[in-house]
Amino acid sequence: MSKTLHQPLGGNQMPRFAGPGTMMRLPAKESAAGLDACFVGVPLDIGTSNRSGARFGPRSIRNESVLLRPYNMATRAAPFDSLSVADIGDVAINTFNLQKSMPIIEAAYDEILSHDVIPLTLGGDHTIVLPILRAMAKKYGPVGVVHIDAHTDINDHMFGEEIAHGTPFRRAVEEGLLDCKRVVQIGVRGTGYAADDFDWSAEQGFRVVQAEECWHKSLVPLMAEVREQMGDGPVYISFDIDGLDPAFAPGTGTPEVGGLTIYQGLEIIRGCRGMTVIGGDLVEVAPPYDPSGNTSLTGANLLYEMLCVLPGVKYRS
Ligand code: MN
Ligand code: MN
Repeated sequence: MSKTLHQPLGGNQMPRFAGPGTMMRLPAKESAAGLDACFVGVPLDIGTSNRSGARFGPRSIRNESVLLRPYNMATRAAPFDSLSVADIGDVAINTFNLQKSMPIIEAAYDEILSHDVIPLTLGGDHTIVLPILRAMAKKYGPVGVVHIDAHTDINDHMFGEEIAHGTPFRRAVEEGLLDCKRVVQIGVRGTGYAADDFDWSAEQGFRVVQAEECWHKSLVPLMAEVREQMGDGPVYISFDIDGLDPAFAPGTGTPEVGGLTIYQGLEIIRGCRGMTVIGGDLVEVAPPYDPSGNTSLTGANLLYEMLCVLPGVKYRS
């Protein structure tokens, strides 16, 4: 059976401010069957420690994605020329219960990954990466991670809780979900609870790149090193929008000053081209703190850029 190359609904067929409310106005599908890649929302924000609102992230990112066109004019990627892509909707999390939401999300990704498809997730707060990684590791074994964030998210507990948006990578290490030598955390910064807050990551074998190491620089050379680090193994991209400076992405729950620029964010994702990317997410967009919509617009663009670096994407010469 030949696959269907779905196209985003174009602005010359339907005004951009109208039409379907899906990511990039792609077709809405009930399941990932037959797709090469899919967009999926996880509207959960009950794992946040400061401002909530990321439950509105998936809907808002989809809303701002109406402006995205199919071809990447910078990299010449033409994802819709070779991949079958659609929006498979949202995971029906239990918004009253964080603990119960974890297996719900994991089961949803088990189902998605039962198909030969690469999911790109619209978050939601960062708690959601734990059940996603649980499902990923069942299929692929321990995975490498390119993690962009102001925070390392390796707290042992938050307010006594093991599950929260600041703990997923600690739990993932404990559960053996990560190939720790193939994990990089980029953009971490800010104030800590203890002077050695960032040491635990490095002790696990992660490469930790603090934001200050990125200031005033192109990250193209860094990403060449990260590609070496990742090798041929499976790689998951987890992009917390607060990795970017709040000047670019103010709509988020735990902003930290002195962050990455949008250009650096683009360089990081574009630098993932050639890796065996098995999935990605864009988390922590909190639309109530984003009156212009720029944070969601940026999130939509970063998800599109992830699509452009997936294995099998055709590039125009
Ligand atoms: Mn995070
Ligand atoms: Mn963060």
